Amino acid sequence: MDRMPIIFIGHGSPMNAIEDNEFSRAWITAGKALPQPKAILSVSAHWETKGTQVTAMEKPRTIYDFYGFPPELYAMKYPALGSPELAQRIGSLVGGSEITLSLTWGLDHGTWSVLSRLFPEADMPVIQLSLDMDKTAQAHYDLGRQLVPLRDEGILILGSGNIVHNLGMVVFEDVAFDWAVEFDGKVKQWILDDNHEPIIQYNKQGRTAALAINSAEHYKPLLYVLGAKESGEPVSFFADKVWGGSLSMRSIKIG
Ligand code: ZN
Repeated sequence: MDRMPIIFIGHGSPMNAIEDNEFSRAWITAGKALPQPKAILSVSAHWETKGTQVTAMEKPRTIYDFYGFPPELYAMKYPALGSPELAQRIGSLVGGSEITLSLTWGLDHGTWSVLSRLFPEADMPVIQLSLDMDKTAQAHYDLGRQLVPLRDEGILILGSGNIVHNLGMVVFEDVAFDWAVEFDGKVKQWILDDNHEPIIQYNKQGRTAALAINSAEHYKPLLYVLGAKESGEPVSFFADKVWGGSLSMRSIKIG
């Protein structure tokens, strides 16, 4: 079996699941170019826990973890099955006791708003890996590195967050703040150069980084995606634009 690509989606608003816009169209196009995976492992910005958890139920529920959106969005379902086997496999890959199985989470909107565009048929199992809020950036990256063997087993690793995400500064229009464009461009170049050190050490990158990553949960999924990347693998970008002033929608395909 060929090695699976890895995908990072800058997900932005949950409305991208139902709105026809430049981002949802870019995701649909990207999905059509992906091979059909045996299963998907999603690392979403919207599941932070104490310790790392992985969903292990047969039928994960669709979670509506947002407020004040139109009823249409709450009517969305992403009916993919889970995979207790894959959850177990991940537990054993990273040394068993480090990861606990969750039977209570499901698929949050970081996962389903994106997958409903990439794989609208929902015809493969999907599991989620949580973000351990006590882990360092390096530890998130290293955990991503440990997931590499899954790529040779037909598993698609998906990171869903935003490289630049400052919700307090969002303006709901099609504009881009200079600092957001600057930091987004820096990260792009570091990715192209396979220079992951400054990406991991984002808190040493000055004012633009501090504004871009004012809370790091949307940035952390990128660390898993880059951790699972081999040096020299091809990288392409899509939906690569800052929107709302302070949200980078930049999405990445590796491999
Ligand atoms: Zn989000």
